[in-house]
Amino acid sequence: MNSLDFDARHLWHPYTNVLDPGPMHLITDAEGVWLTREDGTRMIDAMSSWWCAAHGHRNPAITNAMQAQLQRMPHVMFGGLTHQPAIDLGRKLVELLPTGLDRIFYSDSGSVAIEVALKMAVQYQMALGNTGRTQFATIRGGYHGDTWKAMSVCDPVNGMHGLFSGALSIQHFLPCPPISFDQEWTDDTTLNGLDALEELLETKSDQIAALILEPVVQGAGGMYFYHPKWLQRAQKMCKAHDVLVIFDEIATGFGRTGELFAMHHAAVVPDIVCLGKALTGGHITLAATITSENVARRIGESEAGVLMHGPTYMANPLACAAAIASLGQLSARDWRTEVHAIADQMKHELAPARGLPGVADVRVLGAIGVIEMEQWVDPSIAHALAPDTGVWLRPFARNIYCMPPYIITPEELSRVTSAMVSLVRSMS
Ligand SMILES: *Cc1c(COP(=O)(O)O)cnc(C)c1O
Repeated sequence: MNSLDFDARHLWHPYTNVLDPGPMHLITDAEGVWLTREDGTRMIDAMSSWWCAAHGHRNPAITNAMQAQLQRMPHVMFGGLTHQPAIDLGRKLVELLPTGLDRIFYSDSGSVAIEVALKMAVQYQMALGNTGRTQFATIRGGYHGDTWKAMSVCDPVNGMHGLFSGALSIQHFLPCPPISFDQEWTDDTTLNGLDALEELLETKSDQIAALILEPVVQGAGGMYFYHPKWLQRAQKMCKAHDVLVIFDEIATGFGRTGELFAMHHAAVVPDIVCLGKALTGGHITLAATITSENVARRIGESEAGVLMHGPTYMANPLACAAAIASLGQLSARDWRTEVHAIADQMKHELAPARGLPGVADVRVLGAIGVIEMEQWVDPSIAHALAPDTGVWLRPFARNIYCMPPYIITPEELSRVTSAMVSLVRSMS
């Protein structure tokens, strides 16, 4: 059996029907923006392998740091033991994040970082004697991962609520903030959508531990960009009702939206933030949940005392070494200029899609470009076209989108945008 046949017969792929996996590419090499197939065909990774490879694949600074760490200590447990990579990464994160986010819990994937954040919020509320506050509020259109509690705060329509209804915890869903990033803000709460949050907090805040959302940019749940002012107002309201605010910056962190963190667009500091994906520049899995000294202290002083979580591979030294080097890449290059140049070029080159049949909207924020279609897009069409266009795209739901590595050249980016536009054309 050849490799692709074995794969089709024995391996699961994400969100893929085992009986009809569609076109599959065997990748043997990844360097910079390029993925190389077994037959030598090359494709630009326009997805940064799902938001991760911000500095390109096999980035020498990152792989060198990993190799050095590999020689010394790939892993040790974190219970009762500590190590320099965890400490050095911690220093960097505390330095990069706004003041007030300074207590770090490492874990091994984004979904787990979300689980930890939700647990932190509930334990914090318990510590204050608010034992009834075990539920969460969130906005529609969100995506927070695939584990059970994370799934329960994903969009109830686009997410997995239909399939798993009855098995998921009931949460409180607010309408998606109706004013988009580029629209004019108004403080009229019936127009800006905050009336729903106000009502929820006034009637049910004694059941709610925290509001969790992706700041400004909603990723897999809808690729939607909403007005940062919504976050400012929402945070004030939550504070008044002792509801914590959790920001999921797993996709948006490390420059992707044109600010180092999406929270900077709103100048809001949440009580808890989750990081992942581009944390290691796409070289190895690592995530972090970071909170304030106040939240950590309350949990410490509570009856339970300890935060009830501890992944086996917590603070994996190899992953921490990759993350330190990846953050080093952010400061070594001018990521802000790179991301803004990508945004400008995408705005220009994706604009022609606006008039094409079947297109609902075209939008760009930072190094994220989206063509929203009126109908669901079959990813297989993009997968099949990729070797010919030389661009790897993976549409999801109604969105054909890209978030290329920041190191992409203008010529390479033009290939990406023209592949996106020709994908739209091929569907009509
Ligand atoms: C990818 C993602 C997650 C889940 O991260 P995993 O590492 O896939 O578990 C959570 N939230 C957001 C916003 C994401 O984009």
